Amino acid sequence: PIPVITIDGPTASGKGTVAHKVAEHLGFHLLDSGALYRLTALQALRRGTPLNDEHALAKLAEHLNISFTGDAIFLAHENVTDAIRQEEVGNTASKIAAFPTVRTALYGLQLGFRKTPGLVADGRDMGTVIFPHATLKVFLTASVAARAERRYKQLIGKGIPANMEDLLMDLKARDDRDTNRAIAPLVPAEGAHVLDTSEMTVETAVAQVLQWYAA
Ligand code: C5P
Repeated sequence: PIPVITIDGPTASGKGTVAHKVAEHLGFHLLDSGALYRLTALQALRRGTPLNDEHALAKLAEHLNISFTGDAIFLAHENVTDAIRQEEVGNTASKIAAFPTVRTALYGLQLGFRKTPGLVADGRDMGTVIFPHATLKVFLTASVAARAERRYKQLIGKGIPANMEDLLMDLKARDDRDTNRAIAPLVPAEGAHVLDTSEMTVETAVAQVLQWYAA
């Protein structure tokens, strides 16, 4: 079978960066599943789709016209790589991700990323729901303070104004929604290796994941 490494964890835990580097090292494909929820959210915000209209949101998810080229993400031929990283889009994504039919609409699309020679998939439910038989499952965590600080530096680095108190509040609200929702809540998958990256460099985290994979 085609190997799959799942990397799940809360927002700003570093899973995106770690997944990217592990995939690069192994020459594997990469699935940024959060991007799919963000793309659906962006589409909904632009079209003015009511964020409580589950049926309409699921239709948007089902008919997403997306493509990934290198590190860039396109929505109907428009490069939306930066647009989907906005806080508003992330917050909206976490709201619509609580709808079961939205999740179902994105299920098949996610399975399709499993191609030779292998896949690294990052998100919230990669090891619990989408790839329960993955070769290796990792759950990345980090303290709220460490994650808020990383997000702060990221934003400031991009020249985007940021406020630590707002970031902490947003992170906690997002954690709360992702952890307590009825469907696909954020929990470590059965058999997952848990890695706390609060005091860890990206390189150390990547090396640990690669070591687990090789073992
Ligand atoms: O990981 P990222 O911050 O890009 O994800 C945005 C939102 O999408 C998350 O807050 C989460 O609610 C949702 N999501 C999800 N399942 C995934 C990936 C992301 O519910 N596999």
